[in-house]
Amino acid sequence: MLSRQVAAKLATYETPFYLYDIDLLNQTLDSLMSVARRYDYKIHYAIKANYDKRLLEIIRKHGLGIDCASGNEVKCAIEAGFDPKTIVYAGVGKRDKEIRYAIEQGIYAINCESIEELGVVNDIAGDMGKVVSVALRVNPDIDPRTNHCIDTGQADSKFGISYEEILSSVEYIRSLKNLDVIGMHIHIGSQIRELHVFENMCNKVNVIVENLTSLGFELEFVDVGGGLGINYDMPENEPIPNFASVFAIIKQHLQVGKREVHFEFGRAIVGECGELITKVLFNKTTATGRRLVIVDASMTELIRPALYGSYHNIENITSKEEQRTKYTIVGTACESTDVFDENVSLPITKRGDLLTLKSAGAYGMSMASRYNQHDLPAAVYSDEL
Ligand SMILES: *Cc1c(COP(=O)(O)O)cnc(C)c1O
Repeated sequence: MLSRQVAAKLATYETPFYLYDIDLLNQTLDSLMSVARRYDYKIHYAIKANYDKRLLEIIRKHGLGIDCASGNEVKCAIEAGFDPKTIVYAGVGKRDKEIRYAIEQGIYAINCESIEELGVVNDIAGDMGKVVSVALRVNPDIDPRTNHCIDTGQADSKFGISYEEILSSVEYIRSLKNLDVIGMHIHIGSQIRELHVFENMCNKVNVIVENLTSLGFELEFVDVGGGLGINYDMPENEPIPNFASVFAIIKQHLQVGKREVHFEFGRAIVGECGELITKVLFNKTTATGRRLVIVDASMTELIRPALYGSYHNIENITSKEEQRTKYTIVGTACESTDVFDENVSLPITKRGDLLTLKSAGAYGMSMASRYNQHDLPAAVYSDEL
């Protein structure tokens, strides 16, 4: 969001690259942690959103823990200096060696997503002579009213254990002597913008926690996941997500007694502080009259438009033209879906101009690939310009 002022400086860097607004990240974390402290909520950062070392250092200094989705993410968090006791690890498909590694490192909890996984974690813990803290990730059957590609808590989803299956497996779970079931976890989806969804979630969690407790599980914490969305359409209007209103809803509706309440935000923390800066390579017009702008980035740097049809606001940050026209912005990769957006109104755009794709701090760099043998994009930080 600072690209216009610094466009001249940006022109000296090799494109494409991610630009991170360090002040905005600090302000976002200040805002998040000040309300979280008021309610005594514990916040984990979902490291899959962006594993950039510099960002992780800032996040760690603000006192967050880490939510991981793989053994390598656990490793990355530990290498970035996070205390293993502040790390949780969820994921539908954990390999044996990832489970073993997480146990060795002594992380806070492994969030298990199937009854079979609970049995395997129990066996591995037994082999290692340990008792392991786990949480049950429950599929709450909630429609988060978001893009279907990123909902995770509906009944048919691959995530979590169905509540019915937990109820019918209580005896089995209790028989797993190397497990200490200390938490209940749900995560209903991502980019949630309708806050009443969180109210529905609380109502479900209240019932689940009450029943698990009456079945003899002594839960220390309730992890209600992440999912808070950001304003992709008009990022300038809302650079920092409204954490206070989400927490107020949770405070009002969640009834879990003295148990710790945990959150795991990814997008809401890093989404707005990053943008992808790319240079215009060529202009051309198709036989059908569509005006294409071909930029030097592609789905290999930012796959969200190609993967989910996601929208990123695009601006030309160097053009001085007054006149505007509509363009289709395409990338360099050999895929027809490698289109960033269509019908984008930009000032007359020429070879060498710099474009920014905004709100790309989350699920941008972390999903980058080396398809077509592209280099992975570099990072530039606002305070180093
Ligand atoms: C991806 C994920 C998150 C973070 O989601 P955001 O929408 O980025 O906040 C949190 N918890 C779990 C289990 C996840 O898989």
